[in-house]
Amino acid sequence: MSYRPSVDNVTKAGSNDKEGLYEFIVKLADGTECRVFYHRFPEWRLTNISRLQKTPCPVCRKDFICKCMDSFAGDIGRQVEDGQWIDKALAE
Ligand SMILES: [Zn+2]
Repeated sequence: MSYRPSVDNVTKAGSNDKEGLYEFIVKLADGTECRVFYHRFPEWRLTNISRLQKTPCPVCRKDFICKCMDSFAGDIGRQVEDGQWIDKALAE
């Protein structure tokens, strides 16, 4: 069965407001956490995603760096948008 990420929470980890660069930690329902970078100009756009190596990768089970989350960037980005997670994370 293929992996289906489910965004559970998003928190802001850093930003450069002037440049429009933002870093968020996205927590998935299975406990996986990802570092996600966004550029907000001209519109919010996910530019990079990588898994925090706190837990093994839910896809390949490696506990070191892998590229699996790259293939879920679109799905995760859509969930972040649908759930208005960026607005919530920036409001904190
Ligand atoms: Zn992996």
